Amino acid sequence: MDLGIQGRRALVCASSKGLGKGCAEALAGEGVDLILNARGAESLEATAANIRSTYGVSVVAVAADITTEAGQAAVLEAAGGIDILVTNAGGPPPGMWSDWGRDDFIAAFDANLLTPIALIKASLPGMIDRGWGRIVNITSVAVKAPIPVLGLSNTARSGLTGYVAGVSRQVAGSGVTINNLLPGLHDTDRLVTLDKVDAGARGISEDDARQARMQTVPAGRFGTSEEFGAACAWLCSAKAGFVIGQNILLDGGAFPGAL
Ligand code: NAP
Repeated sequence: MDLGIQGRRALVCASSKGLGKGCAEALAGEGVDLILNARGAESLEATAANIRSTYGVSVVAVAADITTEAGQAAVLEAAGGIDILVTNAGGPPPGMWSDWGRDDFIAAFDANLLTPIALIKASLPGMIDRGWGRIVNITSVAVKAPIPVLGLSNTARSGLTGYVAGVSRQVAGSGVTINNLLPGLHDTDRLVTLDKVDAGARGISEDDARQARMQTVPAGRFGTSEEFGAACAWLCSAKAGFVIGQNILLDGGAFPGAL
């Protein structure tokens, strides 16, 4: 299926690895020119070079911390006018309720709530003027089924979900869609980090922690960045213009609810 976005320009944040990279590759596969971002310049440049040579699209790479105002300004300046925005950043660390103080919440809100809001606010006027835009936020299954050790993530991402629910409807008449993609367990570095913490806390091996986590997924495996990226590309496509303010879960059936 031709997704109808060839020649569009997309900013994909936090995209040198993992789910952001999956989204970038899927968009590049549709002929979308990219602005990529991550903090580490080396892996960012490697990803950018690989996407350029594989898909033949233009790729601008901006090494910056997207959770800072300076990082956002640098990325937005390099991006110029964009048709597609994929917001993403690293997730907050796991812990216990008694660990989390004000500074921890502020850091989580900066990364997973205020950064996407700032990027959405900066991108919307141009998209509205041009009468077309697609915004996808990478959030988490935690907004549907909060994960106890990820209280910082649960809290920040719930806030973003509420924000998107309202704003997506305010701009829906202008040809701009805003939706959230909710990853369940996907096989990325983030999962390896969580397995390490889990293994330490439970006194088991990392492999046992990984296997135990995998058994919670009815599909019997973790998701891949490619699958995640394909869903993102569809949400960013010309075909998905009637999808507004939705929260789309990709979790291999792990969430047990009917809706
Ligand atoms: P990942 O494999 O660890 O990749 C994270 C990517 O984001 C890397 O490219 C990293 O590069 C970049 N990044 C991290 N912090 C950044 C920052 N402050 N500024 C710019 N770039 C940054 O993580 P992932 O699994 O793709 O997860 C992406 C998001 O989905 C996270 O928020 C995570 O919590 C959430 N999530 C993931 C899963 C899962 O199963 N994987 C499930 C639920 C939610 P640098 O380190 O070089 O900056």
